[in-house]
Amino acid sequence: MIRNLSSASCIVFSATVPKPLTCVMRHAHSSTYDVAVVGGGIVGLASARELILRHPTLSFVLLEKEKELAMHQSGHNSGVIHSGIYYTPGSLKARLCVKGATMAYEYLDKQGLPYKRCGKLVVAVEREEIPRLKALYERGQENGVRDLTLIDSKGIQEREPFCRGLMALDSPYTGIVDWRQVSLSYGKDFQDAGGTVVTEYEASDIAMVKESPAGGTEGLKYPIAIRGSKGKEVRCRYLLTCGGLYSDRISQISGCSPEPRIVPFRGDYLVLKPEKHYLVKGNIYPVPDPKFPFLGVHFTPRMDGSIWLGPNAVLAFKREGYKMYDFDIRDVTDALCFRGLHKLVLKNILYGVGEMYRGVFIGAQVKILQKFIPELSLQDVLRGPAGVRAQALDKEGNLVDDFVFDGGVGDVGSRVLHVRNAPSPAATSSLAIAQMVADEVERRFTL
Ligand SMILES: Cc1cc2nc3c(=O)[nH]c(=O)nc-3n(C[C@H](O)[C@H](O)[C@H](O)COP(=O)(O)OP(=O)(O)OC[C@H]3O[C@@H](n4cnc5c(N)ncnc54)[C@H](O)[C@@H]3O)c2cc1C
Repeated sequence: MIRNLSSASCIVFSATVPKPLTCVMRHAHSSTYDVAVVGGGIVGLASARELILRHPTLSFVLLEKEKELAMHQSGHNSGVIHSGIYYTPGSLKARLCVKGATMAYEYLDKQGLPYKRCGKLVVAVEREEIPRLKALYERGQENGVRDLTLIDSKGIQEREPFCRGLMALDSPYTGIVDWRQVSLSYGKDFQDAGGTVVTEYEASDIAMVKESPAGGTEGLKYPIAIRGSKGKEVRCRYLLTCGGLYSDRISQISGCSPEPRIVPFRGDYLVLKPEKHYLVKGNIYPVPDPKFPFLGVHFTPRMDGSIWLGPNAVLAFKREGYKMYDFDIRDVTDALCFRGLHKLVLKNILYGVGEMYRGVFIGAQVKILQKFIPELSLQDVLRGPAGVRAQALDKEGNLVDDFVFDGGVGDVGSRVLHVRNAPSPAATSSLAIAQMVADEVERRFTL
């Protein structure tokens, strides 16, 4: 629990098969560092990379609780390089996505990492969706998304011969990539620049200490102690956390507010049988529901040649639980006792039940997908993998769509920074987010 950490300040900014990293070190050879980063997902890795490139003379460590990096959201997602169409013009999310996509393509080219710019169609299948599709086109233009055009049903068939629709937004700039592979590449850059990666280190306590590490002679140079669940301790001058599905709990152990709370939503994908791959060429998306822009099943080709359909979104009974029956008593109690979730459920009960129904009865999911590709049948699909989204919720049951940085006040406020919410598509935006996080670290800390 918290020691000498006074109450928190919270700032809201509006706004495959991957290669394992062979050079990951399992044990820190030194336990003191200038900067520690907790969380080896794409946000933590990109931020650690950016910081060490800006400050090559400082010592850095990245602590990750799993055996390998990027095992959660960054390794369980749709693998799309989004172009930034959906987000409110001028918002941080829109700017970071558009900039992040450009930076991602540049990075992938420079590193020689594989990706495909296979494009995306957002397809209106009902007449009443057309005004929303046109508004989306305007929005994309305002956001500076490249090469957007509106196409008619003939244009749709030229791009996707098996897709039916009245009108579509064509975004050829959208691509696909294996985001876990990209995350591991950021980790390699970090290590090549001298950073240390320690896996199987679960930060379970963050405290401000008053004495030097045993045998140390440097006084209070490293006053932040990050205690691991296996009894080890890492000391640092400054701490940044990027805990994904656990970002609220990590913030709480250093004395920050429990809100915004992370509520895990699992998304189950279906996969298209290989003999039916000819049905889909690029990404095919529905016109988003303005209430839940991140929902809506889509067709997504993968870098390994497979094609994923979905996902739905249902409340998960376990953070980082990828199977329908995965259950964790603390996660369930936390979620069920949270007033914000009660409000969200009450406001959207029908929607939630529909998502659960489609998760169990895949025929219902296929029925929705058939609106886009009528030739698709239940026999063409299999149950596929799942991902769990860290959805930040406030007390009133509102989805928190902005970036949330949280620190402490007093001594700790000048030494600890939590990235509590890095909303999707944080993989696409990761390099731009990393610049923003590094700017914030430099603004708060005297590195
Ligand atoms: C189903 C789904 C589909 C998506 N599709 C896309 C997409 O197509 N394109 C896109 O750009 N984005 C997509 N996203 C969003 C994107 O994947 C996430 O925004 C991004 O991966 C978040 O990265 P992160 O580093 O914040 O979290 P994570 O990847 O979850 O990383 C957090 C890390 O912190 C570690 N950790 C947690 N607690 C501790 C602790 N106490 N001590 C040490 N380590 C700890 C975890 O083990 C984990 O490795 C999708 C997300 C989901 C769920």
